[in-house]
Amino acid sequence: METLFLSANAPGTAETAAQIIQNGGLVAIPTETVYGLGANGLNEAAVANIFIAKGRPQDNPLILHIADASDIQNLCHSIPESAWRLAEKFWPGPLTMVLPAKDIVPKRTTGGLSTVAVRCPDNAITRQIIRLAGVPLAAPSANISGKPSTTTAEHVLHDHNGRIQAIVDDGACRVGVESTIVDLTEERPRLLRPGGITPEQLLEVLGDLVVDKAVTAQVNHDAVVKAPGMKYKHYAPDCQIIIVSGSRDAASGYIHAHFEEGDRVLCFEEELQLYADCAPLAYGREEKVETLSAGLFAALRQLDESGIRRVYARCPVGGGVAYAVQNRLNKAAGFHIVDAEAEN
Ligand code: AMP
Ligand code: MG
Repeated sequence: METLFLSANAPGTAETAAQIIQNGGLVAIPTETVYGLGANGLNEAAVANIFIAKGRPQDNPLILHIADASDIQNLCHSIPESAWRLAEKFWPGPLTMVLPAKDIVPKRTTGGLSTVAVRCPDNAITRQIIRLAGVPLAAPSANISGKPSTTTAEHVLHDHNGRIQAIVDDGACRVGVESTIVDLTEERPRLLRPGGITPEQLLEVLGDLVVDKAVTAQVNHDAVVKAPGMKYKHYAPDCQIIIVSGSRDAASGYIHAHFEEGDRVLCFEEELQLYADCAPLAYGREEKVETLSAGLFAALRQLDESGIRRVYARCPVGGGVAYAVQNRLNKAAGFHIVDAEAEN
């Protein structure tokens, strides 16, 4: 099949994309987090095609994207008051809520769960497509399963050219890491995945937040976890990644002592000079952590293309958006972290 490459600014793009969705096809859509691979989330056959195109395990549920907060009433029941407060404050935006699913939501979409993940993305053309199609869009990140997420339309083309009906190009994603996921189906709200909406921001609205263990540690393949996606090897480039933590000096000492011909360093722009002799690749500025989240996946993809075998990576510290960057880099590294302070 020929994959249509549609510009978000071109006339008729939203109508064409919505038509494909209504016909049960797959359209890659831009959002502020990452590009998603979208289909009619209420159509079992269309949703099944997302899993096939991505090579995604069947028990890894999808997020339903809606155009307006009030749409959650069509998809969810027993909606707590806290969900409305979060929607009011953070939607449209990079926050996904897990809520009890109504029967209208197919089990294919929820990976067999009785709950469903919903989000209202902060992207004008994608919300327009959802409105025109008249259905929620099931859309996981548009990467081939296990590969770094797609933050540009070109990344999607690379992974899916000839395998999906269309890609809507709206430039590079602003946030660059997938949405924050909060589960509101238990007594206490639970953070299942960190993202652009920070734990601090959630706490301010909710007054309470449990951080799921899958956020901070490697989860076993056969483990029962709240967010099934967390147990799969995610964001994994082909090369081995070793995170080197510690002060700038300590990390530089460790990396320079261990660096071998053919290795590379993934670092902050502020460190490019320091690693000039170690084939450095910067993914953003340490002092502006949003540039690190925006640049991480593109950098991981670039490393994949260069065919190298080992990368020493620098990771921002602290909370806020840095927390999401740590989570994605930790996963890419399989939680292989060296403390340079202790090693020196
Ligand atoms: P992706 O869109 O590729 O970021 O994947 C969606 C993420 O949302 C995965 O990590 C899923 O495990 C998670 N997710 C989707 N639905 C649910 C749900 N009902 N309960 C918990 N996690 C969910
Ligand atoms: Mg994904």
